Amino acid sequence: MRTPILAGNWKMFKTIQEARQFAREARAGATADGVQKVICAPFTALSALAEELQGSQIALGAQNMHFAEQGAYTGEISPAMLVEIGVKYVILGHSERRQYFNETDESVNQKVHAAIKHGLVPIICVGESLEQREAGETEAVVRRQTEAALSGLEASQVRDVIIAYEPIWAIGTGKSSSAEEANETIAIIRQVIAAFFGHQTAEQVRIQYGGSVKPENIESYMAQPDIDGALVGGASLVADSFLQLVAGAAQK
Ligand code: PGA
Repeated sequence: MRTPILAGNWKMFKTIQEARQFAREARAGATADGVQKVICAPFTALSALAEELQGSQIALGAQNMHFAEQGAYTGEISPAMLVEIGVKYVILGHSERRQYFNETDESVNQKVHAAIKHGLVPIICVGESLEQREAGETEAVVRRQTEAALSGLEASQVRDVIIAYEPIWAIGTGKSSSAEEANETIAIIRQVIAAFFGHQTAEQVRIQYGGSVKPENIESYMAQPDIDGALVGGASLVADSFLQLVAGAAQK
């Protein structure tokens, strides 16, 4: 049995003060059993959130990191810096980072290795653009991204990573993929993992759907056999909505 995981991706939203406010509103209500809860916040809010969420069921995630241990990389954050704050998860290869910050399959793979080395759980994002979807390339794109991201890992490491399938055309647009279609693509991702790391490992990896998930539609995604949770942007910014998403994910 895979434990569902609901992760909020705050992107470049919330000051420290706003993050503290959210945590105070959300922490007492985030008690649903059987679902892991994560907030991936901007770097600047992580310390304050670590303090506010201490002893709660909500774990802390970052949205990116560098793969090097340390060095002359102006503006970057290392894995050890995240671990020191109490961060447990890190989103890697989000489509916005691939699109606006030149992240490649190769750099995502380096980051995945670095995260695992430091005990961070990577939430690896894959997904096709509208153009690629219309050209019938969805399967090829997610296959390539998944294979590349996991390249060089051991099955025992792959077991614990989280993959988020996020069709780019569904992110922040209100146009969510149908639950059935999302499940089909996620099943393909699981097949890729099985081909490289074995069936047992593939059955253990949790794969989320992301892209315009809201309290109103989360249950339809969770009802699908291969969908193990959601990575949620816009609808994770308000505590009440986040808690409804958690409750929806707990229905699994
Ligand atoms: P959205 O974003 O829920 O606002 O569509 C999802 C994401 O980018 O992770």
